[in-house]
Amino acid sequence: MAEARPAILVVEDEPEIRRFLRAAFVLEGYRVVESATGRRGSVDAGTHKPDLAIVDLALPDLDGVEVIRRIREWSPMPIIVLSARVQERSKIEALDAGADDYVTKPFGIGELLARVRAALRGAVRPASGSATLHFGSAIVDLERRMAARGGQEMRLTPIEFRLLAALAKHLGMVVTHRQLLTEVWGPTHAADTHYLRIYMKQLRDKLEVDPVRPRHLLTETGIGYRMVVDE
Ligand code: CA
Repeated sequence: MAEARPAILVVEDEPEIRRFLRAAFVLEGYRVVESATGRRGSVDAGTHKPDLAIVDLALPDLDGVEVIRRIREWSPMPIIVLSARVQERSKIEALDAGADDYVTKPFGIGELLARVRAALRGAVRPASGSATLHFGSAIVDLERRMAARGGQEMRLTPIEFRLLAALAKHLGMVVTHRQLLTEVWGPTHAADTHYLRIYMKQLRDKLEVDPVRPRHLLTETGIGYRMVVDE
């Protein structure tokens, strides 16, 4: 039955962090594969076919971003970056290369485990986006393109639905401005971040209880947005 447990690949050169992660993941019921270098990690991702990969960026041989690119050439597996690089530029580079989420060191293990659970949930959700999204008293059905708040039907524009669908594909995880703009408006608008500000405000006004302090449509300053829904 051991094979039924989800496997996590940890690409990390610091042995203490690998040991710490292994202990925490095993305790949560995951299997763990450890790789101490970028090359090793790229190979292990192919041979072990893990359910999710945790990738450090500062590795002794390859940069972690290159590891992410190599995995993305053939696999949609969720990838979470675990890095001491805190600059927005590093986060954007890793997310644009195909990472699903980003956790900075030093990190809280509780937060990392929550991000892992969110990423694994996202991975099993059908790509059609059939999910019904719950935001407190508001509900959005992406497939039927219907929305309601407090039992009253509510109108969302086609762009608003597309934006919610793009965020829902990465539920609980960061989606960069570039990813959202490309997906919703097309590649020629990849730099038009003001579109996002306008439409995210509209969506918050419609869906959040307090649009100024959003609980579901969250800003990742300088990077993008993250959507969190009620279970
Ligand atoms: Ca490192």
